[in-house]
Amino acid sequence: MKEFDYVILGGGCAGLSLAYQLDINNKIKNKTLAIVEMREEYKRDKTWSFWKITDHNFDDCIIKSWNNFTINIKSETYEVLNKEYPYQTIDSGLFYQKILKQLKQNKNIEYFKNTNELKLENSIIFNSFPKKENHENELWQHFKGLEIETSKNIFDDEIFNLMDFDCDQKKNVHFFYTLPFAKNRALIETTWLSKMNDKSLEDYDIQLETYIKDTLKIKDYKINYEEEGAIPLFYPRNKVDKNKINIGSSGGMTRLSTGYTFLNIQEHSKYLVNNIDQIQNVKPYHIGKKYEFLDKIFLNVLKSHPDKMPKIFFNMFKAPPKKVIKFLSNKSNIFDDLSIIFKMPKWIFVKNIF
Ligand SMILES: Cc1cc2nc3c(=O)[nH]c(=O)nc-3n(C[C@H](O)[C@H](O)[C@H](O)COP(=O)(O)OP(=O)(O)OC[C@H]3O[C@@H](n4cnc5c(N)ncnc54)[C@H](O)[C@@H]3O)c2cc1C
Repeated sequence: MKEFDYVILGGGCAGLSLAYQLDINNKIKNKTLAIVEMREEYKRDKTWSFWKITDHNFDDCIIKSWNNFTINIKSETYEVLNKEYPYQTIDSGLFYQKILKQLKQNKNIEYFKNTNELKLENSIIFNSFPKKENHENELWQHFKGLEIETSKNIFDDEIFNLMDFDCDQKKNVHFFYTLPFAKNRALIETTWLSKMNDKSLEDYDIQLETYIKDTLKIKDYKINYEEEGAIPLFYPRNKVDKNKINIGSSGGMTRLSTGYTFLNIQEHSKYLVNNIDQIQNVKPYHIGKKYEFLDKIFLNVLKSHPDKMPKIFFNMFKAPPKKVIKFLSNKSNIFDDLSIIFKMPKWIFVKNIF
């Protein structure tokens, strides 16, 4: 059995972000690290997007960034002019490549497919393995995206579409999301906010084909890349032990009202590395109690009034863009919060506090 100072369970977004942050801050110079990851090879499997409200280490992995975006409901489009915080999209393939190249140079890091050969009792464990439980009845953000290439220049690549609700909602919350990487290349996603117990919502390929042909009026295209996923919109019930810290989605880094996780993972990694020498004694990192409280109400409204959600999202973006983006990125102050709350149907939200 082998023993290491640190063990990272899961070499995905959170595990590799933490390993990278440790390495570039020379925290594995006199320590040893094991990374446990089951995948055989790393390739692009996700496209991470977010408003760049804080700095991160991966500007060189960006596919594209935009300032302005649109949001649509039936027969209404609103264009949000945002100068402050660019919306960035990261290619996970480039992210994995960059980190693995850096970590390879450190002889104190070893890789394992499972924990069988490891003695874990005395190590500090950072866990990003998802907990296996049946969560069919919880809310998820589930989606499929296609990166398509068209024969003609069709897209306006200066502006992206955050949410197009002008589609069949099937008594849930459904929207399309389009990121134009170039005039002839875009990632188009069909996204649902719903439980995972209605398989009829998961005919993603048909939804995408119909949207591309009938709404975007694109007849001639090829598919270059596909991704599919489900982000839990509930907090994982992972056990916390003295020598185990949960990270990533398993560590509650997902903002429940939006599914955004990437930038929270980066902030969490920095917090862990800044406190690594006394890690067992520092306060656990949280996105913020305020957001936990507000998101819980938001998701209660979403569950009880899914039909009202397109209009609620639409109106929310009519608040000053800087305030909305700060709020959605957990960096808002009380004045920002109030300007968002002011845009909400107050009576429905009050009724859903409990
Ligand atoms: C397709 C997709 C797109 C997303 N897009 C965005 C986005 O645009 N913006 C955003 O902010 N968030 C996004 N997210 C949410 C979130 O950022 C990602 O899910 C992110 O990858 C979470 O990081 P993680 O490290 O917690 O999980 P992962 O990246 O999934 O890493 C967990 C790792 O653990 C490994 N593993 C699991 N179990 C075991 C085991 N038993 N043994 C060995 N290895 C194991 C897995 O192979 C995996 O590599 C997206 C999620 C998905 C699925």
